[in-house]
Amino acid sequence: MNFTVNDLNVKKFLAALKGMGIDSYVSNGETVLTLPVIRKAAKTCRKCGLANSRKNVVFGEGSDTAQLVFVGEAPGEEEDLQGRPFVGRAGKLLDQLIERIGLRREDVYICNVLKCRPPDNRDPEEAEIDACKPYLISQLGLIKPKVICTLGRHAYNTLLGVNERITRVRGTLRDYRGTMLLATYHPSFLLRNQEKIKEAWEDMERLKQLLRS
Ligand code: SF4
Repeated sequence: MNFTVNDLNVKKFLAALKGMGIDSYVSNGETVLTLPVIRKAAKTCRKCGLANSRKNVVFGEGSDTAQLVFVGEAPGEEEDLQGRPFVGRAGKLLDQLIERIGLRREDVYICNVLKCRPPDNRDPEEAEIDACKPYLISQLGLIKPKVICTLGRHAYNTLLGVNERITRVRGTLRDYRGTMLLATYHPSFLLRNQEKIKEAWEDMERLKQLLRS
């Protein structure tokens, strides 16, 4: 599946890719991207300072034709070690949330705003988000899901270009470039605030209905 580029950020990103010697996205004179091409670019990316401390780039995984994409914040320690998203305690909880929709992890696609771990799991910085965002925009443009579920405030704010608290926007349905976007809590937050899990279950029920609609 290809992704025709019409986004300014992604165009700049493509120019950067070309500078890295990756130009296999040009097909029949038209600029296109594929998931393997951007995964390859991310693997060696040094567009922000997180490249210096990461052990692995955590690009994302799952079905590249998924109807549902989960977007989290950034890899944690275990994700950085394994190079896979949501594999620690928060990942186990995310698996349980996905099961409540009646799906399996391999049916959906899971990724983060940042592809590299911030030291000590600190919040992502604005410059890091700006540098990394084209990967996420490209992933979503290629997968073309029916619904995007943002996990926590950073994913929501990054995709919608706002600055909201998750407690204000959780459970709200928004439009992201013609795709439904539902905001829910980050599983790490749910591990620390277990009284909120019922709201997350309600969000999974909503996702199930949206996917059926
Ligand atoms: S976080 Fe994103 S922009 Fe920064 S080095 Fe990693 S892949 Fe590149």
